[in-house]
Amino acid sequence: MTRIRRALATLALALALVVLAAAAGCGKEGSPPVKGPKPGALPAYKVATGFRLPSSPTWRKAKRRGYLVVGAKEDQPYLGEKDPATGRYSGFDIEIAKMMAASLGFDPKTIRFKTIASANRETALQNGQIDYYVGTYTINPLRKRLVGFAGPYFIAGQSLLVRTDEHDIHGPKDLAGKTVCSVAGSTPLMRIQSDYPKAHAVAYDTYSVCVDNLISLQVDAVTTDNTILLGYAAKAPKELKVVGKPFSKEPYGIGVPKKDNALRFALNDAIEANERNGNWLKAYNATLGLSGVPAPKPPPVDRYPPPPPPR
Ligand code: GLU
Repeated sequence: MTRIRRALATLALALALVVLAAAAGCGKEGSPPVKGPKPGALPAYKVATGFRLPSSPTWRKAKRRGYLVVGAKEDQPYLGEKDPATGRYSGFDIEIAKMMAASLGFDPKTIRFKTIASANRETALQNGQIDYYVGTYTINPLRKRLVGFAGPYFIAGQSLLVRTDEHDIHGPKDLAGKTVCSVAGSTPLMRIQSDYPKAHAVAYDTYSVCVDNLISLQVDAVTTDNTILLGYAAKAPKELKVVGKPFSKEPYGIGVPKKDNALRFALNDAIEANERNGNWLKAYNATLGLSGVPAPKPPPVDRYPPPPPPR
């Protein structure tokens, strides 16, 4: 690296730290986020009384325990964010997790959220570390072999995040010879590697590390779902922008243990009920809607039949 490039990188790193510190400050009392949710904007979920699901081993175990353990993300603005000061989780995926809990007869306030990275979702569900997972989790046939999916409850699309001073990258074809960052075990990483092999793809555990690397000039772009990227851009509009059109369909599902079809069907019922009663829309507007995209119509849920047992 030349001396100038190194100096620039140091400067950018300092800037990155300032931006991230500012973003982290958002949501705390006294420093509301740029476009934060208004108090009372989030739905209050009514806990179903007398709800029982004895055919679900996951539900039975949670009932005995007295609370649900839900896997989530902690660094995805407006989707799944953990406040480092209070340890509290917020965002659209967190609201989905809460409305599901209420429908299953659990007080959403008692949920224990557990941060699980993209690459570890299937094993967390297989090992019983979590009861279900809500975190920008794309439903696809490969994953369906390992876990079950309720939903979809939203459809995202793969996009690109670049620095605002970047003028050469407008879509995935422009990534030839460029360094693009994504997350291990994610569908966007796989797609870039298979469909755009001229791009130099690098992978980390979380998208926030990719964004740090983008701001400090270590990479030229970050790729994942538009939902996630728009959130980062909304938190640092002077530094970051989302470019081009989405180039995939990412239907978000709630991951459940593969054999627990009773839980999967109960969650499908709960998603539909919360879409009908307005909770879904209210939750969207108070969270993900703040990254600038008006609420779409929620997609129809896919009640696929239980897969035949392996022979
Ligand atoms: N929705 C994509 C996936 O499930 C990307 C987001 C993520 O890594 O959670 O792989």
